[in-house]
Amino acid sequence: MYKSSVAVDSKFPRVGTTIFTVMSKLAADCGAINLSQGFPDFQADSSLFDATWRAMREGHNQYPPMAGVPELREAIAGKVAALYHARYDVEREITVTAGATQAIFTAIAAFVRAGDEVIVFAPVYDSYVPAIESAGGTAVYASLNFPDYRPDWQQVGLLLNKRTRMIIINSPHNPTGSLLSADDLAELAGLTRDTDIVVLSDEVYEHIVFDGARHHSVASHPELAARSLIVSSFGKTYHITGWKVGYVLAAGELMAEFRKVHQFNVFTVNTPCQLGIADYMRDPGRHLGLAEFYAGKREFFRRQLLGSRFELLPCHGTYFQLARYDSLSDLSDREFACWLTRHVGVAVIPVSAFYPDGRDDHVVRFCFAKQEATLAAAGEKLRRA
Ligand code: PMP
Ligand code: GLN
Repeated sequence: MYKSSVAVDSKFPRVGTTIFTVMSKLAADCGAINLSQGFPDFQADSSLFDATWRAMREGHNQYPPMAGVPELREAIAGKVAALYHARYDVEREITVTAGATQAIFTAIAAFVRAGDEVIVFAPVYDSYVPAIESAGGTAVYASLNFPDYRPDWQQVGLLLNKRTRMIIINSPHNPTGSLLSADDLAELAGLTRDTDIVVLSDEVYEHIVFDGARHHSVASHPELAARSLIVSSFGKTYHITGWKVGYVLAAGELMAEFRKVHQFNVFTVNTPCQLGIADYMRDPGRHLGLAEFYAGKREFFRRQLLGSRFELLPCHGTYFQLARYDSLSDLSDREFACWLTRHVGVAVIPVSAFYPDGRDDHVVRFCFAKQEATLAAAGEKLRRA
């Protein structure tokens, strides 16, 4: 063990360990069922492993091209064209990243300068603001208000000024499960028209939308797409969050800037996994079937909570379910999440962790990307809480 001989003047004095890491550790320490951090507890498809292993055996183990292996970029281009009627150029407009987190960090580093403002919507996914601040920018908060978590475009309009460099949107939304509609995209297009504002659209849950709703990708809106970087993640789509493979789509001029940073913060993403995913993507049923797969899990989990004292909020997409716990406890949501983990044996995420001011509506987030046995065991405990 060493004691640092330099005084550390933290660049991020307000940043601690992420709530996902904290709650997963607490769950492990207490032997609780972990419905906190968002990851599946079931195995991915073995044919994905076979394709990846085949790529390794065939000798694809050296650096791939900086933007990603052509096979994967072609598969992504094909998927995006089929789903959103958008044509992204395989050479210039698609880059494979080490998950969405790196894509987001890199996009912000590439476009945000000291003094710039970036509009984010609270509750906000935890990686955006530290990335903005590390680039010298300032996060400006618009709100998605409890309980329906809809954006207020008039409010966003009032936040715009000449320092606004970027707007970050996320649909389907983590943690609330709300979706942006075609009208929302039209509003955003109207607000940004004739400006140089870049839109960063986090669409990692693009394939997980419920009740017949459609995902409205920014890619499906040509005017917005021309000013946007769109981020997705294979971690969510193919149940491989630990592989850390994702991608970015953007107009060539924007992508050229993105790649200037990407080539120096990761350079490339591991080759055999890219080839394995490319092979696996040849069957579109694998991503198209995801909504139905998770709709089944959502229904199963919601049924488990019937007869509990949790009040479930709507969940239109993602694999997260929000719930109010007012009839169970007066504790703050952080205290409640710790109590639930320690004394009931189920770990959750307190939603106040996604607010800059710690706003606490007494709402917690459950991840239902779990086997039915896990959800049933959690349900039993939660009904007794
Ligand atoms: N954005 C959102 C909204 C997420 O929920 C996540 C991860 N759960 C990410 C980005 C990061 O994705 P990745 O694991 O591919 O880095
Ligand atoms: N995005 C995942 C979630 O929302 C967690 C990812 C992480 O641990 N950083 O739970």
